[in-house]
Amino acid sequence: MVTPAAVGHGAFAYTWDLVGDPSAAARFADLGIDTVTLQAAYHSVRATTAWHPAHRVVHAEHAAAYFRIRPERWRGLRPPVPAWGVEDDDRFGTATAALAAAGLRTEAWVVLTHSSVLGRSAPSLAVRNAYGEVFSHALCPAQSAVRDYALTTVQEICEQYDVPALMLEACGWLGFEHASQHEKTSGADLSACARELLSICLCPACSERLTLDVSRLAIDVRTIVDRELQEGVLAGGSLAEALGTERAEAIYRHRNEVITGLVREAAELAGDRELLLMATDDPQVTGPDVGVELTGFEPSPAAFVLKCWDDEESAIGRMKVAAGRTGVPLVANVNALGERPAELPALAARLVAAGASQLRYYHAGLASPARLAAIRAAVQEVP
Ligand SMILES: [Zn+2]
Repeated sequence: MVTPAAVGHGAFAYTWDLVGDPSAAARFADLGIDTVTLQAAYHSVRATTAWHPAHRVVHAEHAAAYFRIRPERWRGLRPPVPAWGVEDDDRFGTATAALAAAGLRTEAWVVLTHSSVLGRSAPSLAVRNAYGEVFSHALCPAQSAVRDYALTTVQEICEQYDVPALMLEACGWLGFEHASQHEKTSGADLSACARELLSICLCPACSERLTLDVSRLAIDVRTIVDRELQEGVLAGGSLAEALGTERAEAIYRHRNEVITGLVREAAELAGDRELLLMATDDPQVTGPDVGVELTGFEPSPAAFVLKCWDDEESAIGRMKVAAGRTGVPLVANVNALGERPAELPALAARLVAAGASQLRYYHAGLASPARLAAIRAAVQEVP
């Protein structure tokens, strides 16, 4: 009789949860997890740190690299270093060593194209919508300088750290959505389709590579979005419905070439290390979980990481569908910060039954005692 493989349990964490707190790694290990998905390159954030001896709130004011920066390795874009948390010029290395000493495996959590500080410094490399407006939080991966930046990030982590896996976030386009604390965009009631129309990048690199009439596309996008914004006429159910199948397909083809190219080159740099790709099974979607067709995605990553943060039935349904659409292992990114932490063990069990082979709980550093207890219970109840 074949014994089914044990489910892998891990949790996300920030480097500042560990650096300067000698008991943090043991506290994480006490959750029963085997892996920590550790911040290596990350966007701006404000975060609580409930137990840290030196701080309670960390304000990461801009995107930054938490791994060691070797200036000579970078051309063009280079991630800034943090000026918050406990001072350390190799926070990722220090945190990884602490986790290893506690018996925990570290995955590098790498955010690639989400950096307002770099987008502001080089607006010509950022996503540009059909109105010509720059989304400075979103570097466009079709730009060769952005690709170089993303791949240098991967290479520098792989060369300097003996980590078995990298989890790639924002390995493609971010779009209109920017979940920053000062967003004032929800009152316009834009439909999902209109948001995706506003997310289509028409920067010079994308305009050159899109095999369609880009000027016409920009005019049509503006017309459709304006009709929705000003007259309440919905944009449609999908980009294909709004723009026609041929144009939607051309956009998806372009995105797919860029995203798969980035994954292919990252995989070459990563060698034996696993690449876990945060993804959404829908080529229309932009965001930190890149929109792709899971079926036939080449090169296949070690796993797709699917966000399961919305309501339980939708998350379970998507996991089931994804398991039927790809043979690539699936990792469930499970929110332990939601409204009903006590239900986390049951959700974890259902996600595994639906096809997830691993679970990553979000987030060991941000969770309250009750939420940490829920993570511990989920690890115990889903063997
Ligand atoms: Zn672009």
